[in-house]
Amino acid sequence: MATKKPVSTKDRQPKTLILGIYAYGNPIKSQEHYFEEFKSLVKTAGIEYDEEMFIKLRSIDKSMFLTKGKLQEVEKLCKEKDIKQIACSEPLSPLQERNLEDFLDCPVSDREHIILEIFRDSAHSAEGKIQVEMAELEYYKTRLAGKGAELAQQAGHIGTRGPGETEKELIKRHLTEKFRQAHKKIERLKKSREVQRKKRLLSGVPLICLVGYTNAGKSSILNRLTKSEILEEDKLFATLDTTTRELFIDHKKIGLLLDTVGFISQLPHHLITAFKSTLDELKYASLLLHVIDLSNPSWRDQVEIVLDTLEEIDIKRKNMLFVFNKIDQIPSEKLDELKEELEEYQPYVLASALSRDGLKNLISYLQKHKFKN
Ligand code: GDP
Ligand code: MG
Repeated sequence: MATKKPVSTKDRQPKTLILGIYAYGNPIKSQEHYFEEFKSLVKTAGIEYDEEMFIKLRSIDKSMFLTKGKLQEVEKLCKEKDIKQIACSEPLSPLQERNLEDFLDCPVSDREHIILEIFRDSAHSAEGKIQVEMAELEYYKTRLAGKGAELAQQAGHIGTRGPGETEKELIKRHLTEKFRQAHKKIERLKKSREVQRKKRLLSGVPLICLVGYTNAGKSSILNRLTKSEILEEDKLFATLDTTTRELFIDHKKIGLLLDTVGFISQLPHHLITAFKSTLDELKYASLLLHVIDLSNPSWRDQVEIVLDTLEEIDIKRKNMLFVFNKIDQIPSEKLDELKEELEEYQPYVLASALSRDGLKNLISYLQKHKFKN
């Protein structure tokens, strides 16, 4: 919540409700897990919350998102508990968000807003920062009538507040101009990326890309394989920037290993678009290492979400090795039971970036793999 983030830990945040909504058709089958994941997102965004509420929705209201009965339940709780802001687990349209804010009489941050908050904190490279900026500008532009202007001002994009119609027009123009500049920068970065890529292709060094759900252990695997120190953290989206490392096995250069941003369920579509140029690199991969947190009860859904997202960004079926990670968290009898089911995912290895179990199998797979560019 850009407008509500605590400036210092001494400041108490306004009383916050986190509203988990599980709508029909959600790709994560475990409702409980979906809500837990949202709570992690909220925490990662630095938002403390006082109350939580979980709602199941069979249909979505076009203008309010929530159906009438559910809306009344939320309103009742907000009044009783004197709620001053709400973090909502779903992406809302600008209209739904505004209507909810008017009805409940407090600011509402949707899923996209919360993810943007996290993205802003986790982008460090020039490219990552511009990509986040572009996603923010897009987000503000659709919310000019509501809190967009205030948000844009907070992020330093505009110097005026309290927009009337002409001012709105000015802000919009300003945002469009900012977007144009950011786009130009991205294009320049893309060109230099292409130059690097051409060089790499000429040198015949294969590219191996880590993909997977956020928090699966991609950065940890990269660190173990290359003995480097990329940030690994128990946070959703700790890595936003792509990192490339040379991969040596027995002093022989096997290829370049690239760490990418993790996918997540209900990742708003234009956030995927924002990271497209980074994810484009996946198109040139000779092999994808799909890292999966096997200790997570929703791992099956997470695999599907990753595969669907890859399809969405046009990554045709590539050579893929499924790396079932975090096996140190799974009792051996349970692991034996799972193995039968894992046969479906071919080829695969079991691994633990923590205990290093199974890493040998992963390394030997990479050694034997016939890379084609
Ligand atoms: P990423 O988001 O996919 O890059 O995941 P990270 O590599 O940042 O790891 C997310 C969290 O999972 C961190 O707290 C890691 O220490 C932890 N983690 C990674 N691999 C393992 C593993 O094999 N076992 C256990 N128990 N934890 C792991
Ligand atoms: Mg990572």
